[in-house]
Amino acid sequence: MIIIMKNDATPDQRQVVLKRIEEVGRKPHLSEGERKTIIGAVGNGSVSPLDFQILPGVENVVPIMKPFKLASREFRPENSVVTVRDIAIGGERVVVMAGPCAVESEEQTMSAARAVRKAGARILRGGAFKPRTSPYSFQGMREDGLKILAKAREETGLAIVTEVIAPEYVDLVAEYADILQVGARNVQNFPLLEAVGNAGKPVLLKRGMMSTVEELLMSAEYILATGNKDVLLCERGIRSFEKYTRNTLDISAIPVIKELSHLPVIVDPSHATGKRNLVAPATRGAVAAGADGLIIEVHPDPDTALCDGIQSLDPKEFSELMETVANISAALGRSL
Ligand code: PEP
Ligand code: MN
Repeated sequence: MIIIMKNDATPDQRQVVLKRIEEVGRKPHLSEGERKTIIGAVGNGSVSPLDFQILPGVENVVPIMKPFKLASREFRPENSVVTVRDIAIGGERVVVMAGPCAVESEEQTMSAARAVRKAGARILRGGAFKPRTSPYSFQGMREDGLKILAKAREETGLAIVTEVIAPEYVDLVAEYADILQVGARNVQNFPLLEAVGNAGKPVLLKRGMMSTVEELLMSAEYILATGNKDVLLCERGIRSFEKYTRNTLDISAIPVIKELSHLPVIVDPSHATGKRNLVAPATRGAVAAGADGLIIEVHPDPDTALCDGIQSLDPKEFSELMETVANISAALGRSL
């Protein structure tokens, strides 16, 4: 249920509503928009809308029928903007995160960081903890990898997004990362979602290879329910019968999520396609369909990459793609 406050409601009237929500056994969540203040009463304590309708300063009380509440457009009609360092994600600018699949060495990460920064990316990606299908594949450099990412941030000024694969690593990863990434394989790891929510850092939540949009939004709800408002949703392709590509990029998920939710949408054309030559067309489609950002794998020498080399762009390919992204963004009234 959401409580829409009148434009001239006083802070005291708002306080009364917040207190009343707690009294009935629900958790209050405040959404202060430019036009409206909306208070969510979330949880399973039983409430009657009338209890709130009569309170001073209340304009309207509306039940949210969808299973996701805080993630819904009803709760926040305006787009959410997630700020990471000085980077606003979900606003007018299309934000590009780029870098290697995995941190492999200081030299490789620094070289990737310098290249993506030069081409206009603002956030460096790179896995220090890698969730691999085979236990015999490279699992990541772990804390040493996080230290390399921090060094790259120091030198380039890029913010860092990196994956956290289990609740016990959240504190460690949060010490270094600006954005905590929850990978496709962990999209319904509910203890992990709560742990990243409580870490107080922005979260990039990837859609699972078998998640519906609604399931993705329900996973986002777990993070939002902790009080963490900074969630970025990432479409990274879903599994279909098509085998030519690694996954199937669900372009329609972008406008669908934008309709259902206020959260920014990021697209990962690298994992969505799994093939270097398909990354550019998938990127063009994603930006044209309204993505707020991209996360793209870039390696200084993709042929020697320890992970996902076949879908990684080299610095030259990435910088050419960035020009196209800038042009498409401009055509849509946005910028890089
Ligand atoms: C990644 O971005 O490094 C990754 C493993 O992606 P996904 O979780 O989407 O497979
Ligand atoms: Mn990868």
